[in-house]
Amino acid sequence: MKFSKLTEYFEKLEETSSRLSLIDILSDLFKETPASEIEEIVYLIQGRLAPFFVPLEIGMAEKNVAKAIAFAFDTTPEKVTKEFNKLGDMGLTAESLRSGNKLNTNENMQLGLSFSLKKVTVGDLTVSQVFETLTKIANTKGEGTVEKRQNLLSTLLQKMDAKSAKHLVRIPLGNTRLGIGDPTVLDGLATAKLGDKSKRKLLEGAYNRTSDLGLIAKTLWEKGLSGVEKLEVRVGSPIRSELCERLPTPDKVIEKMEEVDAQYKYDGFRVQIHKDGNRVRMFSRNLEEMTHMFPELITASLKQVKAENVILDSEALAYNPDSEEFLPFQETTKRRRKHGIEEAAKSLPLKAFVFDILYKNGKQLLDKPLSERMEILKETIMEDDILIRTKNQIIKDPKVLATLLEDSISRGLEGLVVKKLESPYEAGGRNFNWVKLKRHSAGELNDTIDCVLLGYITGKGKRIAFGAGALLVGVYDKKTDEFVTVSKIGTGLTDEEWREVHKRADRISVSKKPARVNSTIVPSVWIKPEIVLEVLADEITRSPVHTAGKTEEEPGYALRFPRLVSFRSSDKKAEDATSVEELIEMFKQQVR
Ligand code: ATP
Repeated sequence: MKFSKLTEYFEKLEETSSRLSLIDILSDLFKETPASEIEEIVYLIQGRLAPFFVPLEIGMAEKNVAKAIAFAFDTTPEKVTKEFNKLGDMGLTAESLRSGNKLNTNENMQLGLSFSLKKVTVGDLTVSQVFETLTKIANTKGEGTVEKRQNLLSTLLQKMDAKSAKHLVRIPLGNTRLGIGDPTVLDGLATAKLGDKSKRKLLEGAYNRTSDLGLIAKTLWEKGLSGVEKLEVRVGSPIRSELCERLPTPDKVIEKMEEVDAQYKYDGFRVQIHKDGNRVRMFSRNLEEMTHMFPELITASLKQVKAENVILDSEALAYNPDSEEFLPFQETTKRRRKHGIEEAAKSLPLKAFVFDILYKNGKQLLDKPLSERMEILKETIMEDDILIRTKNQIIKDPKVLATLLEDSISRGLEGLVVKKLESPYEAGGRNFNWVKLKRHSAGELNDTIDCVLLGYITGKGKRIAFGAGALLVGVYDKKTDEFVTVSKIGTGLTDEEWREVHKRADRISVSKKPARVNSTIVPSVWIKPEIVLEVLADEITRSPVHTAGKTEEEPGYALRFPRLVSFRSSDKKAEDATSVEELIEMFKQQVR
């Protein structure tokens, strides 16, 4: 496929503000895509060159992309910057400059750049050729990287029409504006190849096991649905985490689940540990590779794990074994900073509380019952103080469970996770196989809600200085892959927090409602759904104004007295926010 053809589709995707038409456009695109390019196209749609968990980023600074544009289109970096200041987007800048310039030659030579000025027709590059050069840019390292990358990018730009140039330059800037979520890509693939978007379900198992949309698409094109269904867990590719449902009290737990494996709920960082021979890699709950952040866990995995290859599920947190103190989540997340990791590993060493094993010595263990996985885990980790096997207790008496909950809270933990003994590991699932049990205080829901910032309403008076008066927040509708509104948060934020919101939000503000946002409220400024805020509220109520859970007949759901607890973007993607289903479940459970 020609790259210019692909960008025609990008144009359409960018234009639409309806999610259903996103699926249709994607499906038309996929129908035209040959097996040899489907993987590349699936990654490019999300502005990437590899699945999310592979840290292959092109990462060029704005000023360097500006230089590449200048070289390609026979102008000066100053002129590019001027145009950029006017248009506010490098894609539009490239488009505008390309439109005013047919094909480059001389001025660049005077700037000292050496291009191979082969005669090319604008617009005849294929997707694969562009993908290959972008990959080369991403892999360029060492001395002269900046110049080499500029050179490669401007060589590509020279051969492109205006629209292609617009979309191309957004890729190295990490600024593709299509905002297409994984479920929507799966819907598109299912529609194109299996005839109907409801067939997305058939692809989801493989997606939950491999987290790799490109691999799924390629397999579907080459081997059909049966090939996709056979895709297994791979060491090195993160498995989508199993998550918890909520129940309000120990009594309710035993009533519903009868007998449970009860474990402490540690409030740290979810880390999936993949060990393959001498190589250890780690992934966060939102599937990001974070190996470099936890050197002490690498050493411990090599020392303590008795298996050639293994995938473990764990919660990492800073813990002082002498005082038996667990450090709060905020302290632990400081470790995500890129600098000072070695020092932090010394001053604030982490422990990983391992609570599950998903793969061992070439065998996938997802289908084994929890009780069996816990036995296998016992034989796999040697005693030590870095990887610690989570203590667990089998309980069927609600009183015993209540005492354990008290015990956990008195230790400064969040509560308990109780699990069904016979349950398999349901990658990507959130159901009553795993249930979290937390402390409950009067006048509060017994759990926070992770909301996505969708926009803000400009404030009056003092707040205007910070550019926000109320935040429009939503939750995630998994079925439709949309963000639906649940609340406006206006009170309870400190001036500092408003500034922080403003700082994070304004970088990703957009001029119109993103296609995957469903809202009847129109804020002053729309924000790309990326920022996750942890919110506490007194109650969930029904509301005709909000779109969360709203149907033609029924009103939606809203939060009463919402207040910001923390920013959670460091470990959660927008799609990891609380889902509509969970919200409704919490509504049903609330003690009235
Ligand atoms: P919260 O925001 O309440 O921490 P969450 O939205 O991050 O929850 P949940 O599904 O509600 O995720 O809770 C499960 C999380 O609890 C897991 O993602 C994991 O990080 C953590 N956790 C701590 N201890 C355990 C345990 N023993 N078993 C499973 N998960 C645990």
